[in-house]
Amino acid sequence: MPHPANPAPLSPEFLWPHGKKCVLFPGFDVDAESVWLNMEPESINKLVTMSYGGYEARVGVRKILELLARYEVRATFFIPGWTVEAHPAMCEAIVKAGHEVGHHGYLHKRPDPTRFDLAREEIDKGFEALKRVLGVTPVGYRAPSGENFHELLAYLTECGIRYSSSFRDDIRPYRHVLPGNKPGPVELPVNFAMDDWSYGMTHRLDPGAGTLHPKEHVLSIWRDEFEQTREWGGVSTLVMHPQITGRPGRIRILAEFLDHVRRFDDVWIATGEEITRIYEENCPTT
Ligand code: ZN
Repeated sequence: MPHPANPAPLSPEFLWPHGKKCVLFPGFDVDAESVWLNMEPESINKLVTMSYGGYEARVGVRKILELLARYEVRATFFIPGWTVEAHPAMCEAIVKAGHEVGHHGYLHKRPDPTRFDLAREEIDKGFEALKRVLGVTPVGYRAPSGENFHELLAYLTECGIRYSSSFRDDIRPYRHVLPGNKPGPVELPVNFAMDDWSYGMTHRLDPGAGTLHPKEHVLSIWRDEFEQTREWGGVSTLVMHPQITGRPGRIRILAEFLDHVRRFDDVWIATGEEITRIYEENCPTT
């Protein structure tokens, strides 16, 4: 018997608020050094490898926050617990600027369906660090390296997570269905085409990292994605990393993309929590 990857029903149609036609969901993954430590734990003593992630605390996040303030955009920052403990001042600045903080694991470990115990530990430690250091209890979760499974989705729901932003199977939000036909979190799907890691990261540890793609190349992909998603009334979800897009040569790509988006007056720019709230109001579970 064929086995569909995701048994959730198709995304429901409903109208976006304020008469808008589509949504831009600006999401930033503040991995810092955790992404490198997870790939190779001994990196802790490799100062240059660690410095890729260290750029976020020294420069990257500050520059991203300046850009968002200039454009008057509120975004969602998905932050691993390790990052919060290592760089409390950087993360406090994100909260102080009024942005939403989402859960992004603890040490950026990709959830493994054969090790629910480890996945659950990452979730618990992430919640604990965000609460202790920032006083924040997130309602959104983006899986580190984008993987998930039913047991974990059920646990996230139990922990108060109202939305996930990791799946790649739609352009509009939908609600996950858990075993036993129980409602899971709302999904705000992502698209690898709008992940800056694909275009702006080169590192020997990461086999997926390639050559740097120039601005015109990246913008042409992002514009096409955004404009067609707009016509279809969907959500364009950004997956940006301050250690990439916070670089001098990369931040202009995001700035010019936001300039392009602002040429349309029918785009609702919203955080994950705001989009989820609209979904919940339009599509209640009971
Ligand atoms: Zn990440």
